[in-house]
Amino acid sequence: MPQTVRGRFAPSPSGRMHLGNIYCALAAWLSCRAQGGTMLLRIEDLDPDRSKPEYARLIADDLLWLGLDWDEGGPGDRSFLQSTRGALYENALDTLRAQGLLYPCFCTRAELHAAQAPHAGDGRAVYDGRCRRLTPAERERLAEQRAPALRLAVPDGEICFDDLFCGRVCRDPARDPGDIIVRRRDGVFAYQLAVVVDDALMGVSEVIRGRDLLDSTPVQLRLYQLLGYRPPRFGHIPLLVAPDGRRLSKRERDLDMGALRAHFGAPEPLLGRLACAAGLLPRPEPVSARDLIALYRPDAFSRGDIVIDPADWAVS
Ligand code: GLU
Repeated sequence: MPQTVRGRFAPSPSGRMHLGNIYCALAAWLSCRAQGGTMLLRIEDLDPDRSKPEYARLIADDLLWLGLDWDEGGPGDRSFLQSTRGALYENALDTLRAQGLLYPCFCTRAELHAAQAPHAGDGRAVYDGRCRRLTPAERERLAEQRAPALRLAVPDGEICFDDLFCGRVCRDPARDPGDIIVRRRDGVFAYQLAVVVDDALMGVSEVIRGRDLLDSTPVQLRLYQLLGYRPPRFGHIPLLVAPDGRRLSKRERDLDMGALRAHFGAPEPLLGRLACAAGLLPRPEPVSARDLIALYRPDAFSRGDIVIDPADWAVS
């Protein structure tokens, strides 16, 4: 019997959701609901400096206001907060350590800047692996001066996967992003590690998220392999960009859920506008999240970035 789809939305509670987050949540929810799946809400509050419980509550409240419900997790379920799952991430590190794939990295921020090998296409930094080559004696000496971060020595080799919306994607994660940090020097576990452990242990079978994370997927798939987990299907949706091509972000205050809720007054006009921009509706007519399920077409997400002019949405 085919297994039930398990989808998820995994926001970081570092601010109120903005239009881009809503679009992502809507896409993940629609795909899951259209397949009669189970939806999970995981709160990615790994970074204690940036995460706030009140944001997690606001995110949950905004999702429910939009009609984007979930079946498991949410801010009230501690087992779905990444901040409570450290022991599971530590176990995963043990598995990687046993394969000889972890090494301490003592690079300071300034050294990291210098250690950037030729950049990945979009200017992201790729670590040149200099701490991988330290001798045991050098490691000991450096460890007396500062606590190290932990890096994964990413094995060479191409990873290919069939993205639900982008088609076949092949990358060698050893070249890009290279040896990723799996635990920061302050002990905070890295997103790349936690997201794999969580999606695997929570039985997630479908990950729908923004195309900004497409470059992270090959290294995450490598982690699935190394940890012995079965990977989910991935679908990376187009990004919402401003007319000048910049990605819309939390900096666009006028497009955060506080302003959008005040402006639209009800979820239907907002969802209609967003669904139209995303190619799910021919006209921006008011629509409920539930009514969009029948209109959901995965091929709407197979196209390029979606231009949103904040001025058109200006709500203040
Ligand atoms: N927590 C991440 C974010 O808010 C999403 C991670 C993911 O979907 O894999 O950007």
